[in-house]
Amino acid sequence: MQPQWSPLFRTDTQQSAAESGWYPPVEGFLFLASGHRGGMARARATTSAANFLPAEPSLQALREAAAGCQGCDLWKLGTQTVFGEGPESAGVMFVGEQPGDQEDRAGKPFVGPAGRLLDKALAEAGIDRSATYMTNAVKHFKWQERGKRRIHQKPTWAEITACRPWLEAELAAVHPHVLVLLGATAAQSLLGREFRVTQNRRTLVESNLAEAVTATIHPSAILRGEPEQRETEFAAFVDDLRFVASLL
Ligand code: SF4
Repeated sequence: MQPQWSPLFRTDTQQSAAESGWYPPVEGFLFLASGHRGGMARARATTSAANFLPAEPSLQALREAAAGCQGCDLWKLGTQTVFGEGPESAGVMFVGEQPGDQEDRAGKPFVGPAGRLLDKALAEAGIDRSATYMTNAVKHFKWQERGKRRIHQKPTWAEITACRPWLEAELAAVHPHVLVLLGATAAQSLLGREFRVTQNRRTLVESNLAEAVTATIHPSAILRGEPEQRETEFAAFVDDLRFVASLL
């Protein structure tokens, strides 16, 4: 029986797994390849978003299915699933780490302080945000209470791995010409844990995830950095996005 829905590509992780004969966390692809769908999928143990993938691979179907995802424990912590946003025809996809406090409340990616900084950098680089697809490697906000504030917590590798099927499904649905990985979590989710963003800025990464794959810092790194360095860091970030613009 032919799968109703199959990936357009494999990640580097999957390729190396194939070479070694060991298939680890990408249950989504294996499960889809087995031809199982829908209700049967939900009967499996909830250790991965793969168990919640819909039969139909459209962005709308994915978004609706992701709203009910319990593929890891982060659904208990976040207000809602923050799925990607942007046109299915987008030529460029940006992938960040996870939604922050404001994204969690709004249900939209990149609408908080880091998102506003990204908007400013995109404008300076001449990239129209409305023509891009924005998403995160992890779709629920992971946080810890400190006083009245919800402080961002870095997702674990298990949570990143559990959520990866949504990202892979978004990539397959949008099939962007350019894929931009913002920060280590996004880059390592798709390119492997050894990948170092700082050593690969303004370069093309060898990958079959998209025709052009590149990585840069997450804009939140600029906000978290030394105040006196922010202007320099922002200018370098804009340069990275100009490189992206040259690929479009
Ligand atoms: S973080 Fe991802 S895998 Fe975990 S519950 Fe949310 S959508 Fe599902």
